[in-house]
Amino acid sequence: MSPDRFAALWRSLLPIGRAGRDGGYVRHSWAAADLECREWFAEEALDRNLTVDTDGNGNLFAWWGDPTAADAVVTGSHLDSVPHGGAYDGPLGVVSGLLAIDELRERGVTPRRPIGLVVFTEEEGARFGVACLGSRLLTGAMDPARARKLTDRDGVSLAEAMARADADPDRLGPDPARLGRIGAFVELHIEQGRALVDLDAPVGVASAIWPHGRWRMDFTGEANHAGTTRMTDRRDPMVTFAAAVLAANEEARRQDAHATVGRVEATPNATNAIASTVAAWLDARAADEATLESLVDAVRRRADERAAHDGTGFALTPESESPTVEFDTALRDRIAARLGQAPVLPTGAGHDAGVLAAHVPTAMLFVRNPTGVSHAPAEYASDADCALGVNALADTLEELAC
Ligand SMILES: [Zn+2]
Repeated sequence: MSPDRFAALWRSLLPIGRAGRDGGYVRHSWAAADLECREWFAEEALDRNLTVDTDGNGNLFAWWGDPTAADAVVTGSHLDSVPHGGAYDGPLGVVSGLLAIDELRERGVTPRRPIGLVVFTEEEGARFGVACLGSRLLTGAMDPARARKLTDRDGVSLAEAMARADADPDRLGPDPARLGRIGAFVELHIEQGRALVDLDAPVGVASAIWPHGRWRMDFTGEANHAGTTRMTDRRDPMVTFAAAVLAANEEARRQDAHATVGRVEATPNATNAIASTVAAWLDARAADEATLESLVDAVRRRADERAAHDGTGFALTPESESPTVEFDTALRDRIAARLGQAPVLPTGAGHDAGVLAAHVPTAMLFVRNPTGVSHAPAEYASDADCALGVNALADTLEELAC
């Protein structure tokens, strides 16, 4: 696969959902840009004579071979983005999947097993708050009744958003028959760090995903006038919030883990008023589950102590938690060997592959990202590396399916 071939297909997707001057993407599931991405995918799949179908959760599938046959080798990723995210997180795996199928056809190989390409819905959880929602629903890790009631920031429920896009929310839920036909799953993804840069390698294979989760932090106090309320009389949740953010940062550094507070909502959010409530979201990740638990416990304890000192209230509520995922070692080693001993590395980011791994032998390929930036417009991979990624994915599919 030449870099130019990669670039041509890549550029056809780039205009969809590009938002504003920063070059970032806003592709939230079931919203206009996401629907346009889905159409783009269906057209590209049909152009390749693939059979396109959608499961009840809005996950799109395209098949080379019989979609109803067992032991399929499936690749894919997602097309939704975080707000003002980069172009590569998700779409690189989808575009590479289409091109890997082209590459295999040009090699003249005939798959023994059906090859599937999937686009999972709401991987980022950017609209409805639960990451990997589409794959969690497919595998039964998420209750469909709870999913239907999830709301976005405008109060629109998933059920409403699906209905507006002519999708039937009553079809949400596990699909064990479909899942059972998947014999192996491989997700290609942009690397979200600089390990491959340091190793001077364009493509790597994943070993494991760190355990991670999201917790909602609610700080409650008393709204009052910024000018007339004496400092000693205040019950200011913003102060408790600030202390909690610092505590999370300090604990993460101390325990060699990651903690981030990247989203906050203050009420009434006025310059001259003490806030009545602050809601913030803690994203925490660590190399093992014990460390993650200890990190979150420490943040909870220190925020509780600070709330007692400030006369405010504090509550920590888990929104989603994902255990450690160790990818299938036999599959990983087979792929790494086929790719000429590609480097094997862990990741702190969650993926649909992590959800699938509990049910199906699963592997991931990473493509080098020279900036190391992800979830932001600076996320990048060169056309040359992306073309090498397509070849690596084609080699992997050939190894498994032919
Ligand atoms: Zn992703």
